[in-house]
Amino acid sequence: MTHVVTLIPGDGTGPELAAALETVIAATGAPIDWERHDAGLGVMEEHGTPLPEHVLESIRRNRVAIKGPITTPVGHGFRSVNVALRKELDLYACLRPSRSLKGVRSRYDDIDVVVVRENTEDLYAGIEHMVGDDAAESIKIITRKGSRRIARFAFEYARRHGRRKVTAVHKANIMKCTDGLFLSVAREVAEDYPDIEFEDRIVDNMCMQLVQKPELYDVLVMPNLYGDIVSDLCAGLIGGLGVAPGANLGDEVAVFEPVHGSAPRYAGQDKVNPTALLRSGVLLLEHLGEEAAARRMEEAIAAVVAEGKDVTYDLGGSTGTSGMAAAIARRIAG
Ligand code: NAD
Repeated sequence: MTHVVTLIPGDGTGPELAAALETVIAATGAPIDWERHDAGLGVMEEHGTPLPEHVLESIRRNRVAIKGPITTPVGHGFRSVNVALRKELDLYACLRPSRSLKGVRSRYDDIDVVVVRENTEDLYAGIEHMVGDDAAESIKIITRKGSRRIARFAFEYARRHGRRKVTAVHKANIMKCTDGLFLSVAREVAEDYPDIEFEDRIVDNMCMQLVQKPELYDVLVMPNLYGDIVSDLCAGLIGGLGVAPGANLGDEVAVFEPVHGSAPRYAGQDKVNPTALLRSGVLLLEHLGEEAAARRMEEAIAAVVAEGKDVTYDLGGSTGTSGMAAAIARRIAG
């Protein structure tokens, strides 16, 4: 069966990375037809919006998409396409697995933590306004429903993937209502999963512990903003944004994307590391049930990175995006 998958190349370095993904997935032989759609700054003029309706329709129809990064203007201009996609498609769970790759220089060589980030609420609800000229206010939304479904997602993920522990991350000592609600719902949900250990950590302590003793942690579940920050910390633990994959999941639809942004200063230079998007591609193949192709791709990425010859600048090499993708594709074929 051929899978039709929406491909949004994105902007900045996104199109080069998407081309690398196509090269490598083609080499696996997985039967995928790409339906390409642009979003972001490049389509603003033509469609009057950075996220045209036909892009959303394509994703709703195919129920699965993979995207490169999309630039969000700071302080003015349109709101984030990435945030809008997550809200429009109710992609409430952001999954960011951080697993060490041999050959990538980093503080530890045996990291295996998964951040499950709530993707639709918290300060990302975007309810903020100026109060006169000299103050601004932003409203943090946490609901029982949103907290319950993300906690349940984390425990189900843990169970399905044979993980031993879920840690809820919060700041309930200070935000007693919002984070307090998140924590109490996580505790309730934990009672339905006696086979999985449960604990909680205050977010600042969590960050320190992840830097000092990451081996103590397994699956971490947290509200949106902490998830954004802690998942970059975890990306740092495995050698940086160039190697960190991600997925945004709802009950109906899945959108895969790397953790990193559009790295605009490298756009068009065939320079940045395709590994994060390629590892997101591995998650996509697993989601499609293409297990054999996923394993071949994962092993080829690991082999090329470990060899350290055909890798990009951030991994200590001088190969470009396309050269690294070609080396991984050759490894799959050979
Ligand atoms: P960034 O992730 O683009 O870059 C941060 C640093 O990491 C830079 O030094 C960059 O060169 C490096 N980097 C990023 N990806 C890399 C790769 N694949 N290989 C090697 N090095 C890599 O973050 P930023 O500069 O904060 O954001 C740039 C733009 O991307 C902003 O407009 C931001 O809003 C957007 N953004 C988009 C997404 C998304 O599409 N999901 C996510 C984060 C940021």
